[in-house]
Amino acid sequence: MSRRAELAIYAAHSTQTRGRQHAEPSAAPRSEFQRDRDRIVHSSAFRRLEYKTQVFVNHEGDLFRTRLTHSLEVAQIGRTIARILHLNEDLVEAIALAHDLGHTPFGHAGQDALNACMKTHGGFEHNLQSLRVVDRLEERYAEFDGLNLCFETREGILKHCALHNARQLGDIGERFILKQQPSLEAQVANLADEIAYNNHDVDDGLRSGLITLEQLQKIGLFARHLHAAQVKYPQLAGRRLINETVRRMINTLVLDLVEHSQDAISGAGVDSLKAVRSAPMLIGFSPALVAENHELKQFLRQHLYRHYRVARMSAKAAKVITDLFGAFLADPGLLPTEHQKKAQHDAPRAIADYIAGMTDRYAMREYRRLFTIEEVSL
Ligand code: MG
Repeated sequence: MSRRAELAIYAAHSTQTRGRQHAEPSAAPRSEFQRDRDRIVHSSAFRRLEYKTQVFVNHEGDLFRTRLTHSLEVAQIGRTIARILHLNEDLVEAIALAHDLGHTPFGHAGQDALNACMKTHGGFEHNLQSLRVVDRLEERYAEFDGLNLCFETREGILKHCALHNARQLGDIGERFILKQQPSLEAQVANLADEIAYNNHDVDDGLRSGLITLEQLQKIGLFARHLHAAQVKYPQLAGRRLINETVRRMINTLVLDLVEHSQDAISGAGVDSLKAVRSAPMLIGFSPALVAENHELKQFLRQHLYRHYRVARMSAKAAKVITDLFGAFLADPGLLPTEHQKKAQHDAPRAIADYIAGMTDRYAMREYRRLFTIEEVSL
């Protein structure tokens, strides 16, 4: 059965892609976006997501999400939404699986620290770095650097971008200058990301004991679904109760998003991907859910991301990243040989690429190798 026949007219059709930077023969019977998804899954940056974290440091517990499981959850939620809206599931999946490839070790603390190190060298943005990974840093093909992905996949990966960077990116940066939207598939992947992380941070936050059920009962979205689960299963407690609550929250957010977006799409009367680009953002939650979601995010920011135990990890992370960067910049001869070669052209950027590519544990090991006097294995 042809996939294309199932797609809405405003979806991104793989046969109408704006193409790849380096022309390649078709991958038929695979579609172009399936091929992109496959290239991402086989990349080394994708494998490293397993040992990178968002909020919790990877070695803290095997039960917490890593960027790999996070990316899989984003892909799952994104595909569900895309299927109902008759959008291109393969494209949503490709964007979802690649969206975090450029993240540094140690979550946001790592990114902030690396950005500070790069302040006078062009800065560091994880979205831009994700694009850099798929455009330039992966070394898998004889004929080109990077994964040579389709325009639509690349544009979805580049969720945000500062204007001065957009101006240097050619066609992929245009929409930030023209203030246009990306495809609906990119918009779906973006909100699937938000649904995934808010909910798994609630789950991981409770599991770690940094936030409590009692605190969350004051948060509308959580309280409503906790109540629904308790009404249906009055005896339920502990993990199962939390899981029944979280899965209801995800379901509500997905269904609300689908319904609200469908109305917005119909209301805008878009009849092509081109029309989608000039329309306002069409994928979104209803105003009521936007407000509830905002309340939950504020709660997580205040009670989880700023929890002193997270802050301690963040401070350590910042020290590891800052010290590594400083040592390599002062003496690029400390870099592994292949990175030394790259550093000959632009040392700060090559060092940022090397550090951003590290997993949490690799960064800590590298830190010990450089700064610990006791014998450690090289
Ligand atoms: Mg994400």
